This record gives sequence, structure tokens and C-alpha cells, in this order.
Amino acid sequence: LRRQKVDIKKLSNELLNSNLTALSQAITLVESQSNRHEDSVKKLIENCLPHAGNSVRIGITGVPGVGKSTFIESFGMHLISQGHKVAVLAVDPSSSISGGSILGDKTRMEKLVQSPHSYIRPTASGTSLGGVSRKTRESIALCEAAGFDIILIETVGVGQSETLVHSMTDFFLLLKLAGAGDELQGIKRGIIEMADAIVINKADGNNIDQAKSAKLEFNRALQLYPPKSNDWKPKVLLASGLKHQGIDKIWELIERFVKQTKSNQSFDDNRALQAKYWLTQSIEENLKKDFYSHSEIKIALKKELLKIDQKKTTAFEAAENLLKLYKKTKL
Ligand code: GDP
Repeated sequence: LRRQKVDIKKLSNELLNSNLTALSQAITLVESQSNRHEDSVKKLIENCLPHAGNSVRIGITGVPGVGKSTFIESFGMHLISQGHKVAVLAVDPSSSISGGSILGDKTRMEKLVQSPHSYIRPTASGTSLGGVSRKTRESIALCEAAGFDIILIETVGVGQSETLVHSMTDFFLLLKLAGAGDELQGIKRGIIEMADAIVINKADGNNIDQAKSAKLEFNRALQLYPPKSNDWKPKVLLASGLKHQGIDKIWELIERFVKQTKSNQSFDDNRALQAKYWLTQSIEENLKKDFYSHSEIKIALKKELLKIDQKKTTAFEAAENLLKLYKKTKL
């Protein structure tokens, strides 16, 4: 894929025929940083977009160890038993720093990995949040074009990744563990606000009582939040990915959500809102890239930084000078 020229028409056709090798190749192309592939990627996306969009996109988040992989295995297999085709993607902006990746542990997704009705793609690593989100958005479209009607997007509960995944999914699922009563401590307020459902996971064995009281506590906490614009009231559920308990109830809930939001138009409204958000994000990302990669700006920026060190200018003055210079280069 690296050296030879890719036959985009052929690749698109194979992908649209649900060929998974083609889907993998297409995502690799989307993930490649090289400018050489830019036109190919554009064409590929153009070919696929008319066939994309027909899925339910579900974001799944939770701290490492909460049981995401195990949950996705169980949930994914349940969806497949209901006749669905499930693609699993992961977003982990931090992996660009650590070089690590989530979804690496496919040993917990043994059945799902082997199913012909699933497609699992480990993290796209990237140098910027914007880059990662673009790749993920495009990968979603490719999976949909290849016939996957449910897209699960996993992310670890750190940094900005949740906001990112929330802004590209229809339903946002937060996995939690029952602790010793202090459930709400240390959870970012924003994340609860984003959640369409909170699942108290590992509700099995000796954990059940604790899980039940955690459910009560989260339910109480949810009352304190203002109603969502789509009229959906977030729910708290118990589940065990390991024992496959409560999994069917979660899917029933999501089906109800889809039905309700589609009938009151908020499903489509939300997608449109997301598209507009990504438009501005994409512009900002491109402008930034263009600005910082400009050779004149690079030199001038160094000078201004030095002047700041020498206390000969202020941050605002320096920024203004650089922006003026940037505008001039565009004339
Ligand atoms: P992730 O880091 O969030 O992907 O979590 P994993 O799925 O890798 O699970 C972390 C650990 O928790 C593993 O040892 C799992 O066997 C265990 N685990 C996962 N789900 C459950 C569950 O539903 N119940 C119990 N008791 N253990 C679980």
C-alpha cells in the first residue's frame, strides 16, 4: 500500500461489497499521514459517503480496568446474535504520546474477533487531537459504507478523548465500577452530563449489593442535571460483561433511545449539529497547520519567543505581529 499506487475505484467497490480486507486497506490509507495519499483519501471518502450514515454510533468510555474490552466482547456478540454487524473503533489521543494503543488486548474479545459479522480496528494514533478525530470520523464512514450498522467507539476515560467521542456518536455510554459508597467522587461533572446511560459494570458475585447502591446514588445525581434538549432521560443500569448479564437490557435501552430521538427528529438534528461542529474544527485545524508550518512564520515566531524571554514584548503584541505577517503572506 505504501509504494504502489492504489486503485481507488477498485478499492471503493470492494469495500462497498463488504470486503473486510478492502476496509482495512481503506482505513490504513485514511490513517496514513502522507500528503501523497491526500487525493486518494479524498476520492475514497467521496465514493463511500453516499453509502455511509446508516448506523447507530455508540461511544463507550470508562477508566482502564473498568471492563471495556470484556463488555464490548459480550455486547458485540449480543448485537450479532440480533442480526447486526458490529464495527469497533478506538480513540486514544494520548497514545500519540505513549505510543501505546487501546483495544490492544484482543484476548478479551476472542469471539468477537473471530466473528465474520464484526470488524475490530485498534487505535489510530496521531500527532494531534484534530488529526485523530478526522481519521476516526472517516473510519466510521468507511465502516458504515462496508455495511456495518452498529459502530462502537471505545475510549479511555482520560483527557479530552471523551468529549471527542461524544461529538461523533449518537449514544454515549459511561462504564463505572461500584466502589465503597463514594461513587461520585473524582468523576468529572462533564462526563456525567454527556452520558446517555451509566452502566455499573462488574455487577456480579460479591459486587452486586455495592452495585445496587451505586445505581441509586447515580440515579440521584442524575436528577440534579437539567433535562437534555432531546428529551432523553439518562438511565443507570447494572451489567456484567464477564457473566453476560444485563447486556440485553442495555441494547433494549439504546433501541428505545434511537426510536425516541428519531421520532422527535433529535437524532438527525444531533448529527447535523455534529457535522457543523466538525466543519469549524476542521477549519481551525487546517488554519493552525498552515500557520505553524509557514517558513516565514517559523522564523518570526522564534524571534518573538526570544523577545518574550528578554521581556521586550508581550504575548499579545507578539501574537498580533505574527498574525499580521501571516495575513501579509496570504496577499
Ligand atoms: P478495560 O481495561 O476497561 O478494557 O478492562 P478489561 O475488559 O480488560 O477488564 C479488566 C479486568 O476486569 C479483567 O481482569 C477482567 O477479567 C475483569 N472484568 C471485566 N469485566 C468484568 C465483569 O463484568 N465482572 C468481573 N467480576 N470482572 C470483570
